[in-house]
Amino acid sequence: MRTVLITGASSGIGAACAQVLAREGYRLLLCARRADRLEGLRTEIQTQYPNIDIHTFILDVRDNEKVKEAINSLPPEWQKIDVLINNAGLSQGLDALQDGDTDDWDRMIDTNVKGLLYVSKAVIPLLKESQQAHIVNIGSIAGKEVYPNGNVYCATKHAVDALNKAMRIDLLPFGIKVTAINPGMVETEFSEVRFKGDKERAKNVYNGVEPLSGLDIAETINFVLSRPAHVNINDLLIMPTAQA
Ligand code: NDP
Repeated sequence: MRTVLITGASSGIGAACAQVLAREGYRLLLCARRADRLEGLRTEIQTQYPNIDIHTFILDVRDNEKVKEAINSLPPEWQKIDVLINNAGLSQGLDALQDGDTDDWDRMIDTNVKGLLYVSKAVIPLLKESQQAHIVNIGSIAGKEVYPNGNVYCATKHAVDALNKAMRIDLLPFGIKVTAINPGMVETEFSEVRFKGDKERAKNVYNGVEPLSGLDIAETINFVLSRPAHVNINDLLIMPTAQA
């Protein structure tokens, strides 16, 4: 039975991954900053799949010391990890560079880039113990293109794209698979976070396009994880059919 660690499991894509991978029989290590949301998810999953083991813990991926401490102090039965899903991430603000808020920039760079690095570094020693080790990095279409006012968020996801390639090279000798999943628009709390709670503005981003759901992404990740040992899907772009 494989164990998966999902960062940013408290909502959206991360929570959907937890649900889909519970159905597939994975043991779940779930973390994020909002403990109440993690506990709600645990109850939901355990009601549906009573035999699934779940361990939750609070983690802010921006704090390297806390990341190291959290991973080092996992209970012994949780110290073998097979799959890491680097999902925690956010966009804040959508302004031209000259109008941007530097605190927003820091939050995005610290979470999307440094957080992914901190968690990966802490977890890789545990992945090395697994015969089926796999890191899934959640990138974005924003890591492949740059759109108006996307500046710093796009830069962080371009960094994820580069780090995904770099990790694959660095981890090749250990047989650890590495995959980037790059979604277009997914309907989650992402837009509300981007527009700091402005629900109206958040809703308008879809602009007539039927967005992807968290489950669409989670099912794709399940497909990637279920390929045979000799197959590694390195990089996937997954878009709503109607998104330009
Ligand atoms: P959500 O806002 O629904 O989920 C984001 C998750 O990240 C939450 O669980 C949040 O948990 C967690 N998170 C944010 N900051 C931190 C932090 N400092 N430490 C730990 N966890 C954190 O959005 P999505 O599910 O859409 O986003 C998931 C990933 O998908 C992100 O990397 C995003 O960039 C990417 N993505 C999203 C797209 C979309 O259109 N939705 C498109 C392309 C990529 P908590 O607040 O509890 O800490």
